[in-house]
Parts: sequence; structure tokens; C-alpha cells
Amino acid sequence: MNSWGCLAKRHGQSAADLMVGPRKDNVMPTPSAVPPLHSYLPVQSARTYRSVGHCIYCGSRCRLSDEHIIPLGLGGRLVLPQSSCSSCSAKTGRLERTCLRTMYGPLRLLYGLPSRRKKSRPETLQLKIKRTEESEWEYVPVVQERYPFLITFPYFEAPGALTGTDESDAAGPVTSRLWVRGASPHHDFQELLQSLAQELRVHSLMPESKAEVSAFCSLLAKIALSYIAADIGVSAQRSRLAQIALGEDLTNCMHYIGSVATDEPPSGLLHEVSLARHHRNDSIVVRIRLLAKLGTPTYFVVLPSNIAKA
Ligand SMILES: [Zn+2]
Repeated sequence: MNSWGCLAKRHGQSAADLMVGPRKDNVMPTPSAVPPLHSYLPVQSARTYRSVGHCIYCGSRCRLSDEHIIPLGLGGRLVLPQSSCSSCSAKTGRLERTCLRTMYGPLRLLYGLPSRRKKSRPETLQLKIKRTEESEWEYVPVVQERYPFLITFPYFEAPGALTGTDESDAAGPVTSRLWVRGASPHHDFQELLQSLAQELRVHSLMPESKAEVSAFCSLLAKIALSYIAADIGVSAQRSRLAQIALGEDLTNCMHYIGSVATDEPPSGLLHEVSLARHHRNDSIVVRIRLLAKLGTPTYFVVLPSNIAKA
């Protein structure tokens, strides 16, 4: 009989593993998985917003490119034209790829990344396995289409800016709890694990993922800044949120970023992003829920009122 384990570790790079394989103690934690993603995830409606004409991170007007508000590799189709300079685009792009690679695995295969990266895309991915009960863990290549992976989101506290605490008391990018689900682009996750274990003739296999919490906070700040610019035309260049989005300084970033603390029901949409003014202090609050259809956590990113005037 197969059983599962799930590990979550603290700190910026948290590891989350699900393990399949016999266990002596006969304890059966409930496996958590989502349906095969290919037919389950809806498509986001495409929208191109009004061109900005300067970099929303640093204010530069040189060498501007279009910004995908939600990463293309996650199926994001909201585009903010002429809004990121080449220097800032390189920084946000690198952080975005870190999140996609480590936390959302082959999910991006569903949506196809820009062709410039197709050549470097591996056709196989490394899966952690154990050949016998006594042997060491090792990695074997598995074709992308049949690679079982984990989708990971960190849970945070509410943003300090909304609870009224001082910025200096806010934490950096850390989490103590993760939202983790098994997933596969084209297969039922549990059936895939069973068939792979038989096919590879292994004792156990362990899909892995890491929560890159720093890069994820930067991604949330990037989504918030670009959505604020798109929706209400407010540019917060060189603000603390811009520094966080560029990965330059994440000290006390939990003053600006937070999440709900509980599991939420799945939404009908692939992603949710919306904006509101905070009723007490007039700051702008962007609500972000990536892969909302999977029942993922909701995040809040706060742009304080001293910058948030339109
Ligand atoms: Zn820039």
C-alpha cells in the first residue's frame, strides 16, 4: 500500500515534498492533488491596456518593452505595453523564471513560453526515487509530459500596512506554512505516481518543489505595480514596492505583502486580480490570486497612500 508524506520547512527556501511508497507505520496522510490541469484550467481573457510610455519600476523612458501583468508561463494574458525598461525587465524576468521553475514546474508547458527559450527547454525532468527500501535517494529522468510535480504557494500573515503595525517591525520574506498540491499537465496525479513507480520499478518516488519565497514576494509586487498602472494609471516608480519587485531590497517586505490564512474554495477563473482603496488610510490594496481555479491562497499587496495618489 502506498502512503504519502508532506514536509514543509521554514525560511526563504522552503522544501515541500510529497512521497509515495510503502511505509512501515501504516499511517495514511490524505494525499492532496488537483485534477489533470490540461482540461481543468480555464483560459484567461486577453486584455491589452493603454501604453504607459515609461518604466513603472525606475521611470526610464528608454528601451521600453511590454509587461505581462501575470506571467505568460502561468497563462497570463493581461498586457501593459511600453512599461518596463530593459534593465528592470531583466531583473523581474529572472525572478519570475525562478518562481515558475521551482514552484510551478511543468505547468508552464501548458501555456508555452516564448519561443526564444524553447531550445533550452529540457525534454526530461529529474524525479527523485528510491530503488529499494535500503538504497539512497537518487534522480532519474522522466519525460515532461509524464512528470508529476507539486504546485506550491506560501501562506503569509496579513500585510503590516493593513494591521497598523510599524514598517520596522515587519518581517522579511519568510513563511511558516505552505499550500502544496500534486499536479500533472495531462494525467491524474495519483494514477501517474502509481504507474511511474511500476514502470521505473522503484520502491518510492518523491515529487519535490521549493517555495522561493523572496522571488515570489517580488513577483507579487510586480503584479501589483503593473496592475495599478494598468487599471488606474498610477505609477509607483522607485517606491518600496518597486524595490521589492526588482529584488533589490526585501527588508520588512511583509509590511506591504500578505495573504489570507485559510484555505479558500476554488474560483471559476484561472487568475484573479483586483484593486481597492483601503477605507481607513486611502492606500491602494491589490488582491491577487494566482491559479485561483485550484483553490490557492489570496494575496494582498499594499501601496501606501503617500504614493497612491492618482
Ligand atoms: Zn526600469
